[in-house]
Amino acid sequence: MNEPRVEIVDLGTWGAAALFAEYDPEDDVIRVNARIVECMHAARGAAEAARFVACAIAHERYHRTYPSASEEGARRYAAAVSGLDSDCEQLLLRAAAQSPAGRQ
Ligand SMILES: [Zn+2]
Repeated sequence: MNEPRVEIVDLGTWGAAALFAEYDPEDDVIRVNARIVECMHAARGAAEAARFVACAIAHERYHRTYPSASEEGARRYAAAVSGLDSDCEQLLLRAAAQSPAGRQ
């Protein structure tokens, strides 16, 4: 299997139902939400923003490899691969709580 492309693009408003990232099987591309990367960067710094990107990519790669796998499985895999002890959402919730951009 080839490697997917990765893009950091605006996937829409950041909020309760924010889309962190998505995998598009037609174009074989993982898209990470640039708004969330910016929010993470502002609230937690470059290292945490980079960890979010790594976590989001790992999550979407899991969906790509195992299309019928559970959301829970993707979260556990992403947490293990990116070295986060909590899952992406907890990291993002902490960032959102600290960033004005997270309260839109
Ligand atoms: Zn997922």
